[in-house]
Amino acid sequence: MPAAEIDVRLSGIRKTYGDVVAVDELDLDIKTGEFFTLLGPSGSGKTTTLRLIAGFERPDRGRIALGGRDVTNRAPYERDVNTVFQDYALFPHMTVADNVAYGLRVKGVPKAERKRRVQEILRVVRLPDVGRRKPVQLSGGQRQRIALARSLVNAPKVLLLDEPLGALDLKLRQEMQIELKRIQREVSEVGITFVYVTHDQEEALTMSDRLAVFNEGRIEQIGTPAEVYERPSTQFVAGFVGVSNVLERGGRTFTVRPEKIQMHFDETGGGELGRIEDVVYVGMFTRYIVELDSGGELTVVRQNLETSSQEALESRGKRVRLEWRPEHTFVIERGGGA
Ligand code: ADP
Ligand code: MG
Repeated sequence: MPAAEIDVRLSGIRKTYGDVVAVDELDLDIKTGEFFTLLGPSGSGKTTTLRLIAGFERPDRGRIALGGRDVTNRAPYERDVNTVFQDYALFPHMTVADNVAYGLRVKGVPKAERKRRVQEILRVVRLPDVGRRKPVQLSGGQRQRIALARSLVNAPKVLLLDEPLGALDLKLRQEMQIELKRIQREVSEVGITFVYVTHDQEEALTMSDRLAVFNEGRIEQIGTPAEVYERPSTQFVAGFVGVSNVLERGGRTFTVRPEKIQMHFDETGGGELGRIEDVVYVGMFTRYIVELDSGGELTVVRQNLETSSQEALESRGKRVRLEWRPEHTFVIERGGGA
């Protein structure tokens, strides 16, 4: 990758807190304007990585560059970076407009220009008329959009978002995911890079241009959502991103995604034989857990095209034959703590 395309570069980063190794051997290149997600379970080092990029933490080892400039020893205010936290951190006594304008005022941007830019960014987050309200007069989703507006108004090179939708209920979170993507596209002409942290695999898959899967302070895989989902490179990734369908056959370990498996209720033909151990009816589809005669267990997902919930649930205990195409299996490395 040419250096100019890379906005955030972490090389050989290690960060410890006493005996705890929070992140180690971290190498990461994030491109300008990219929506890049750090995905991983709690405690895997995502927040530490964001704080290192922001400059709130210093690495024990390694270098950090932003826009091609080494900033490893620079203070947070010397980095062209803003952070959005889960708890919004709006000033309660200030109006929404003053909250959004805060960073501009600190930088000494003249009043008329401030006003224009606040209006513009409130339009982008689709809350043009709430400038005079106080944060307490907004809903949770609106407050999160204002927090976003405040971080975008001074057009930072990099926007860091640490589980920003974590406090919202599912429905609102899904709406905000779409909203956030729209906002990112709208500001992409000024080339703001989004670095997004989440532990929610669905959120990561739907929003990201690329993602990095974290496990115990290390990156297990980097790729586009399709690459990571369809071709997980380790057992941990296979299990964390989607359902862990891992089999060992003939000395090799491989994974196959549940929706790529065909299930037949006859025992003649190709594939592997087994028995349905469990059935989970999920409305749109049904999930079947199949115990294979040759060892191992696979989850199979079938759309409920013609099957009723009754029929689906009654298939528990039945003998089945599972088939999948060789090109839908991917060899993975063992281990990774799944
Ligand atoms: P995540 O954001 O993925 O949940 P963190 O980056 O917050 O993970 O934490 C990574 C590891 O570092 C965890 O084991 C955590 O307990 C530890 N850690 C993070 N911050 C501190 C700190 N300030 N002091 C001590 N340990 C910390
Ligand atoms: Mg965290």
